[in-house]
Amino acid sequence: MQLEKIINITGKIKVLTGLHIGAGDAALEIGGLDQPIIKHPLTGEPYIPGSSLKGKLRSLLELRYNKFAKNGNPCQCSTCLICCVFGVSGAEKNKQSIGPTRILVRDAYMTENWHQQFQRGELPMEIKYENVINRITGTAENPRPLERVPAGVEFDFNISVRLFEGDKEDDMLGLVKQGLALLQLDALGGCGSRGCGQIKFCNVHINEQEITEEDFQQALEKNISIDLA
Ligand SMILES: [Zn+2]
Repeated sequence: MQLEKIINITGKIKVLTGLHIGAGDAALEIGGLDQPIIKHPLTGEPYIPGSSLKGKLRSLLELRYNKFAKNGNPCQCSTCLICCVFGVSGAEKNKQSIGPTRILVRDAYMTENWHQQFQRGELPMEIKYENVINRITGTAENPRPLERVPAGVEFDFNISVRLFEGDKEDDMLGLVKQGLALLQLDALGGCGSRGCGQIKFCNVHINEQEITEEDFQQALEKNISIDLA
């Protein structure tokens, strides 16, 4: 399969409500925060792992097209556009026919302004206490501190889509655009149902061409034919 072109998608992710992308249990320290966010190991700066962004885009698109596996795992059919764009695991034998994963989602770091503010120590992360309400007494119990990137912070994101011969460019880019539009209506990271992780994509460009809010709206309404078989 011949690589024909690489389309670059860039822009900013603006945090609208506190963003919690968990660091996982491995990062738990004794006496440390109960639910810390993921941070760069050298700088200590919060970032959005490309895998988190990619996983969320994929899962929303799978919901949109009813393509996830019965057990809730990602689609691995190897015959749909979602598998083609986001990839299938190496074990899938049909992998050859759809070729390599088309999308490449890079880690998103804070924009220069926010990075500098963080460096100066002027950007503390937010700690939100989550209570469980006792149904009988009506009182709050067991507050669990949840670390979040505060609202307002912006990250630079960068996604590449690799197009191979025979790929339908409009469908592939349409799918990615639709994923981004769906994510604006959903949430990134954890605790979305409790108000965390609402984000907005700003200043989005696909190959230098600006994508407006209206473009995102149109992308949402589009029905892309995702069956490749
Ligand atoms: Zn599939």
